[in-house]
Amino acid sequence: MSTTPIYGGIEAGGTKFVCAIGTGPQDLRAEIRFPTTTPRETISRAVGFFQEQQERLRCQLAAVGIASFGPVDLNPASLTFGYITSTPKPGWQNVDLMGAIREELNVPVAFDTDVNGAALGEGLWGAAQGLDTFIYLTVGTGIGGGGLVGGQLIHGLLHPEMGHIRIPHERQTDPYEGNCPFHGDCLEGLASGPAIEARWGTRAENLPPDHPAWALEAHYLALALTNFICVLAPQRIILGGGVMKQRQLFPLIRAEVQALLGGYIQARPLLEEIEEYIVPPQLGDYAGVLGAIALARRAVDAASIATQS
Ligand code: ADP
Ligand code: ZN
Repeated sequence: MSTTPIYGGIEAGGTKFVCAIGTGPQDLRAEIRFPTTTPRETISRAVGFFQEQQERLRCQLAAVGIASFGPVDLNPASLTFGYITSTPKPGWQNVDLMGAIREELNVPVAFDTDVNGAALGEGLWGAAQGLDTFIYLTVGTGIGGGGLVGGQLIHGLLHPEMGHIRIPHERQTDPYEGNCPFHGDCLEGLASGPAIEARWGTRAENLPPDHPAWALEAHYLALALTNFICVLAPQRIILGGGVMKQRQLFPLIRAEVQALLGGYIQARPLLEEIEEYIVPPQLGDYAGVLGAIALARRAVDAASIATQS
């Protein structure tokens, strides 16, 4: 009898949920996408999908991974562990997403940020294979970063909030004040998709590739990446999210990161192989849900190591 475990993954986004069953990118057995509405309706659709698919595929999921928008509580000792906490998304403050899924499906649940999930998936199957210290940054409706350091997903006091770092903002060249409700002109406030739209009066996807918006965007992202490189020493940085579909940003960002570092960090990928250092994701539209499946896999693998030893 085959004992290959099968996993469920939930990409819990502020706009849409994606749920899938499988073991990896070559083996996704079912998938569903639906808009994020109320917590009750959205969670029950996810639960319904997994119940139906378990019946159809005659399988019992070994675990479900959830890669969630946030902020989320990832501290197992906390009373609100597994909750979406202070999100501005109406109706979703203090929602026990992990608990609801675990109770309804009666399976172990692994829970992390969407970007930590995406980083883990890219590490297993995509653009960061073989590395143990790297970052995944998404530049979309918001800016968020996750990653691994020494093979461990980055958790600490909370989870990283890489989108909210402060970067130089020269108001003479860029008078736009920024749109972060907490900080105004933090990185997210200056460089998210909605910030680009607010500054130039056009949705980011409708700005032509040679528009000055992109040089400014690359400038802000290069400042941020330079800080992440100095703080975390990542072996690679993956840039995803809707805004990074503008592929002309990559060479601009790479050149400016090199200029900002000024040759100080003597590492080959930064000096000579920057095209392989700052890269797009490889898992495409499935990055989020595969990240969730990767979280489930990792939790099951860790548990089986613990019971063996
Ligand atoms: P989310 O962050 O909500 O999960 P996305 O990563 O798709 O979703 O980000 C949405 C943002 O990205 C919007 O602000 C949108 O204007 C912008 N965006 C989407 N596609 C493109 C594109 N091709 N070029 C530039 N910006 C884009
Ligand atoms: Zn901010």
